[in-house]
Amino acid sequence: MIRYSDIVNISQSEGFDACGVARPQQLTSNTRRLKEWIDAGNVASLDYMCRNIDKREDITQMVEGAKSVIVCAVSYKSDVNSHYTSSTRGKIASYACNGDYHKTIKKMLLRMLSSLKELYPDVEGRAFVDSAPIFEKQYAVNAGLGWIGRQSLLVSPTLGTYILLGELVINCQVDRYDKPIEEVGCAECRRCVEVCPNGAINANRTIDARRCISCQTIEQRNVEGIDLHGWIFGCDECQICCPYNQKAPNHKNPNFNPLFSPNAISPEQWLTMSEEEFTSRFGLTPLRRSGLQRIQYNLNKE
Ligand code: SF4
Ligand code: SF4
Repeated sequence: MIRYSDIVNISQSEGFDACGVARPQQLTSNTRRLKEWIDAGNVASLDYMCRNIDKREDITQMVEGAKSVIVCAVSYKSDVNSHYTSSTRGKIASYACNGDYHKTIKKMLLRMLSSLKELYPDVEGRAFVDSAPIFEKQYAVNAGLGWIGRQSLLVSPTLGTYILLGELVINCQVDRYDKPIEEVGCAECRRCVEVCPNGAINANRTIDARRCISCQTIEQRNVEGIDLHGWIFGCDECQICCPYNQKAPNHKNPNFNPLFSPNAISPEQWLTMSEEEFTSRFGLTPLRRSGLQRIQYNLNKE
């Protein structure tokens, strides 16, 4: 039996801002809602959401003998998007101004696992960061880290929504499991719904990827008939407006310091940039995923 306090202490020493523990569960209602969302056409080109739905429902298919799901969160909140206005061109989602978080968080989780193994030699587990079919936001809710906001993101009452999640799924019981926060903290607030420039937020706290700028600037090849409102990679509109972000502190972990400021790069600089310069300046960031040509395409679509 692992002590909950050991998990929390180790997560903090690895630089996570929050951590909770949930029991593995059959997430049948999440599966049903996912299928309904897909069937309604919201999925657009996010094909990976249609794959491995059974694995998503049952985390023990990912980790045999799983007994506990440790969900860790780290803030990346910064000021990089604080100067954006409705007329700013070349806007980039703030997470994309940092180094790619997948490797960083995976290393943090694997170091956590090693530290746990030192204390509990029988512990085995796997680390996941946004790459496996896991209902990670539901596990974050079950682990008491926050609730699902109207814009479908996890909202932490203390950290807001500029957070990244990672999970350590282990084969041991923990002496305490968290519970979901009882109140849905959005209360009467509807700011994100009202602010979304393309009306992409559905009434049931899901996103219509066909109209979502974040999805359309990154995932889909041909953006037709949708206004990008100055965004060229991702979109933060439904986060900038959230009152929980306005009171959340900036990130503390230096691994999540922005590597560049979008405000310092003019549309003309983007359009005349060479591939070599792009790779040298942004090769460590998520921008690499879409590539320079896609960014230039998005800029020309504005
Ligand atoms: S990311 Fe942008 S387009 Fe997508 S739901 Fe949020 S505000 Fe709307
Ligand atoms: S902006 Fe308001 S409604 Fe939207 S997630 Fe934040 S608190 Fe909830």
